Amino acid sequence: MRAEPAEDLGEHQPPIISAQLAALLEDQERTRAEVCWLMVDDDAPTLRDLFSRPAWMDRGACCDVPTPAFFIERGGDQAPARRACAVCVVRSECLAYAMADPELKGYWGGTSERQRRQMRSGAA
Ligand code: SF4
Repeated sequence: MRAEPAEDLGEHQPPIISAQLAALLEDQERTRAEVCWLMVDDDAPTLRDLFSRPAWMDRGACCDVPTPAFFIERGGDQAPARRACAVCVVRSECLAYAMADPELKGYWGGTSERQRRQMRSGAA
């Protein structure tokens, strides 16, 4: 018996996706979503930021603390960030780094954005 040639549906051809390929695409989509998070959030570090970090950052006590603890909403709990900074061996480097950049958000070198603004203006 001779097989009929497959009908050519042109661009309406249904996609043939194996379960393995579907899983791979799903993984890629998840990875893409994570990369997009790094690139689209105004307050998130860019890939350039991440690759040009000063070496002292790797010794910060905050390396073991979830990042949101250092980006505290108004009225949020500063205690976890304060505890980490209090025992941090690179606190002075961190504070100098944060003081040099008025745009820097979050808790750095044991200080909040507000405290750093006050320090810059000489009010603290
Ligand atoms: S001083 Fe605080 S924010 Fe800075 S590196 Fe140390 S733990 Fe992190």
